[in-house]
Amino acid sequence: MPAEVVVVGGGIAGCTVAYELARRGLRVVLVERDSIAEAASGRNMGLLLNQTEPEVVRIMRRSLDVYRELLPGPVGFDLRETKQLLFAADEAQLASVRSRSAEIAAIGVEVEEVGEMDLPFEMRCVGGFIVHNAWALEPADATRAFAEAARQAGAELRVGVRAGHVQVASGRVHGVVTDAGPLACDAVVLAAGPWITQLWPSLEVSAGRGWLLRLRKLDLDLPWVIEEMAWPDQDELGRATRAPTLAEVAAGYDRSVAGAFVICQLPAGDALLGTSLSPSLRDAYEGLEMPSQVARRAVEIAPGLAGVGVAAAWFGLRPMTPDGMPIVGRLEVEGLYAHGGHGSIGMMAAPATARWLAAAMSGEAAPELSGLRPDRFQE
Ligand SMILES: Cc1cc2nc3c(=O)[nH]c(=O)nc-3n(C[C@H](O)[C@H](O)[C@H](O)COP(=O)(O)OP(=O)(O)OC[C@H]3O[C@@H](n4cnc5c(N)ncnc54)[C@H](O)[C@@H]3O)c2cc1C
Repeated sequence: MPAEVVVVGGGIAGCTVAYELARRGLRVVLVERDSIAEAASGRNMGLLLNQTEPEVVRIMRRSLDVYRELLPGPVGFDLRETKQLLFAADEAQLASVRSRSAEIAAIGVEVEEVGEMDLPFEMRCVGGFIVHNAWALEPADATRAFAEAARQAGAELRVGVRAGHVQVASGRVHGVVTDAGPLACDAVVLAAGPWITQLWPSLEVSAGRGWLLRLRKLDLDLPWVIEEMAWPDQDELGRATRAPTLAEVAAGYDRSVAGAFVICQLPAGDALLGTSLSPSLRDAYEGLEMPSQVARRAVEIAPGLAGVGVAAAWFGLRPMTPDGMPIVGRLEVEGLYAHGGHGSIGMMAAPATARWLAAAMSGEAAPELSGLRPDRFQE
């Protein structure tokens, strides 16, 4: 069992694992080059939904248990139970919405078909289901809640410190070189989001850019998170956002490969509207037409939203893997671990995967991680 661990990255992946390791008594230093939750972890929708595959739902439920443990802590994050209206905007989506709802019902989640009802914003809807037991939270605060819990458990958090490279000798980790000097340690957990490959290039992580719009206060209370049945399954998302080839970049690579009308009202009455997904080269200027595209889809599906003010728009980079599922576990060098590639489900999955990773690093069995091994794409 390592005595001292350096965690690289202060997003949800890094803060959850720093917390889990520190509460097990390990000496943990987390380095974050910007500030906590600066990247995707502070820029997402904060939804924990049942609409993804049953395996993801099982991980999400475990994460929910961990979030609940943090509720009495000093950083609130607006964890709230809600319902989700999963709907078909046209006949083509109707079959998928039916089969997805049946799958969700099969794992024990309450699902009700919606009949004739008045929908808000003059929504175009040919059928849909209300899915119970959905959850929402404020993502930047949730990430900070884990950072604070890690600090209270003894971890040291160093923000504004970039990790340059991992020091390896004789097949094992010896430390990390940072802007603030070298840090010696027995183990390193790479949790640097889509930038993880700058530290360990052989990892299969690409970047998927996604945009959100923040709408001004709505003049009604939405009873559900509303989502169009258009968001692909995890493996399809992974395939669509693999790193582009040179020919694809030459042809124009940053087009939307997935998009869905999703609207989630926030506790103050304003709302987040999304979302898009396009392959990304991380630091290039890309997808600048995407806010318009997200808005166009929303007005097409829900014309009643047309007059609502838009307060802001921003993007985040999802750390994608070829099958859309996280990479969690030991790498080829002793003492080196990955906690990343959480794609479009980081808020749903990272608290659970961090708990399992900390168990595995402490020499305990963590069978849940067998399908998430970082080397699974080499088979
Ligand atoms: C538009 C959008 C909507 C989303 N909606 C949801 C949702 O509703 N529910 C959900 O579960 N997920 C959602 N996601 C996905 C979720 O945001 C991500 O899966 C998650 O935030 C990834 O967390 P992370 O910690 O791996 O990466 P990040 O949040 O990117 O954190 C990585 C951190 O590492 C730091 N870093 C990088 N390199 C270094 C270095 N060399 N040294 C030091 N620090 C470094 C970065 O500065 C960054 O802060 C959404 C994503 C987007 C973009």
